[in-house]
Amino acid sequence: MSEPLPVFQHEVFMKQLQRFPLRERDKIVDKLKHITNEDIRRVPYLKGSYKHLKKYRTGDYRIFMAYCAECYNKYREKINCNDCEEDNLEKIVVFSIDSRPKLYKRMNRRR
Ligand SMILES: [Zn+2]
Repeated sequence: MSEPLPVFQHEVFMKQLQRFPLRERDKIVDKLKHITNEDIRRVPYLKGSYKHLKKYRTGDYRIFMAYCAECYNKYREKINCNDCEEDNLEKIVVFSIDSRPKLYKRMNRRR
């Protein structure tokens, strides 16, 4: 059994979250608190210049985050993740949140 990982929220993410209704905010934060290292390993990476970030989907939102255990091993030579600490890699760093485009949402909704 794996334990949920500690979550560190970047200032940008916290500011974006302020714009959401309180109930949504609570749901999102609660989701983040329950991500284990097994969960995070399944979350896909972005492509291009943010390829060290993972795109986590929950409800109508996409949350961009790094899992430092992977980030440190794969990207430390190319990308300077300021949040990687060699002796503390089992953690999630959350950078930003985005709503999924409405069209995309509709296309993916199956009943
Ligand atoms: Zn990192």
